[in-house]
Amino acid sequence: MIAAKLYTFYDLPFSHDVCHLFEHIVIRRFLLSLRAAGRSRAFIGNVDGNTVESTIFFHAELYSAEDIALFEQSLYAEQSSINQRIVAESLAHIEAELMTVVNVQSDALLMSQLAACQRIVGGATGAHVSADDPLIIAESPKLFDTAVLAIETSDASDEATRSFFCFYPALLDIARDSAFDATAAYPQQNGVFTAYQDGNVVLQRFTVKKPFDCRAAEKRIAHHFHEARVTNEMLELLVRVFKTHPAYTAVPMYFYEKTLTRTTRDELAQSITPQAFHDIAKSARISIQPLPPTK
Ligand SMILES: [Zn+2]
Repeated sequence: MIAAKLYTFYDLPFSHDVCHLFEHIVIRRFLLSLRAAGRSRAFIGNVDGNTVESTIFFHAELYSAEDIALFEQSLYAEQSSINQRIVAESLAHIEAELMTVVNVQSDALLMSQLAACQRIVGGATGAHVSADDPLIIAESPKLFDTAVLAIETSDASDEATRSFFCFYPALLDIARDSAFDATAAYPQQNGVFTAYQDGNVVLQRFTVKKPFDCRAAEKRIAHHFHEARVTNEMLELLVRVFKTHPAYTAVPMYFYEKTLTRTTRDELAQSITPQAFHDIAKSARISIQPLPPTK
C-alpha cells in the first residue's frame, strides 16, 4: 500500500540555490542507496522534492514502509555523507533543470552550508555558518538541447497495451537511470503515452547539456532493458496499488482516454507480470532525437 508522507523544512538560513542543491542531494542519496541494494527507482513509487525560496519539501509516496524508512535514512544522513561527487552530480542536474551555468565561488563555504542544512534537517537549531551565497547562477539556454526519448513496441493487442500502460513509468525510470542521470540532464515533463493501431509508444523530453551523444544513450538504455531482471516479488506492490489503492480508482478512465478500450483495475493488475515486462523490455525500440531548445 502507498505510504505517503510530506517532510517540511521551512526557512533554512541559506540562499534558495543552496537549499535547492540540498534538496537534489537528498534525493540523489536515496537513489544511490537503492542502487547499492541492487534496486532502482522503478517499481517503488515516487519521491519529489520542491524548494520554494529557502523552504524545502519532500513528498514521498512509496509503496512500502521499508522504502519510507530507506528514504528517511537518506534524508537524516550524517553530514559527512555529502561529498564532492554527489554535489557535482546534483549541480549538473540543476544546470539542466534551469538551463543555467552554476559557478561555485567558494567550495569550502558551500560544503559548510550543506553540512549545516544537514544538521538543521536532523533537528539542530542555528546554522553558525556564513549565509553569503557561494553560488552564482547564470542563464545559458544556448548550452542546452532538448532530447526526446521514445520507447515503442509494435504489439498492439489489448493485453500488450494494458501491460505497456502499467509499465511505461518503470521503463522511463530505467531509461533515466541508465542514460540521463550520469550527465547534465533533467526531464522536462512526465512521460506521454500514446496507443496506436499498430503499437504503443511513450515519449519524454529531457533537457541535456551539449554535446549529448544520443546514439550512446540509446545503447545504454537498450543494454539496461536487456539486463533488467524483474521478479514477481518486485511487482507485488505495484499490482496491489493498481487493484486496491483509492488513488487508482479512475485508472480505467485514463486508460480509455488513451486507448478507446474498456478495461478494469483487475485486468490491468493482471497484466503486470515479469513475463510481460521482459517481453516489452526486449522488443522495445528506443530512440533519442534532439530538438531545438523550447525555452
Ligand atoms: Zn530541482
